[in-house]
Amino acid sequence: MLPLYLKQMEVGPMQNFVYLVGDQNAQEALVVDPAWEVEAVLKAAREGGFRVKGALITHTHFDHCNGLEALLRQTDGTVYIHKDEAEFLKGMKGNIRKVEGGDKIKVGQVEIAFIHTPGHTPGSQCFLIGNNLISGDTLFINACGRCDLPGGDAEEMYHSLSRLADLDEHTILYPGHNYADEPTSTIGNEKQFNPYLRTANLEDFLKYRMGY
Ligand SMILES: [Zn+2]
Repeated sequence: MLPLYLKQMEVGPMQNFVYLVGDQNAQEALVVDPAWEVEAVLKAAREGGFRVKGALITHTHFDHCNGLEALLRQTDGTVYIHKDEAEFLKGMKGNIRKVEGGDKIKVGQVEIAFIHTPGHTPGSQCFLIGNNLISGDTLFINACGRCDLPGGDAEEMYHSLSRLADLDEHTILYPGHNYADEPTSTIGNEKQFNPYLRTANLEDFLKYRMGY
């Protein structure tokens, strides 16, 4: 059994999910998308007995990383960010590590694999940890992220979602916002019910996105 620690916390006015990912035995954890309520997240880590070793950034929209500086003031850890969005963190304290799709790191004995999923933003990335996928604003329960903001690209989103649909059906989905009735889902469920994963080809996907 993987000594995985994975805690989901809803924070802020936009129903963001922050996650703590760590190793139960090593008592080390990383914060996914530190935002809004960093004190509460650090408190939860402390109460669990975990040392926070840094952060994983799904993408650099304000609502996902507005707590990063506060986190770094208190932990001085490593920040893992996709190379296409690392510019955003220029000048920030802490050890910024640029990653790309296919890279893997470990927190304790727990391995985290990076999947590059552009579409919502150019450097959006998801984290696969054992059978768990933290999907940021790429894949939501019954929906997907917007592609009409700066840097968004619907065609890239289609290809990113196709990549996620190839994951094992039992993979548990942990999205970046609490937009659905349930806080988690599975890739299998999403393939069955999520209209954005059910489109058979790019043309249908783009039509569906446009609302016809
Ligand atoms: Zn976003």
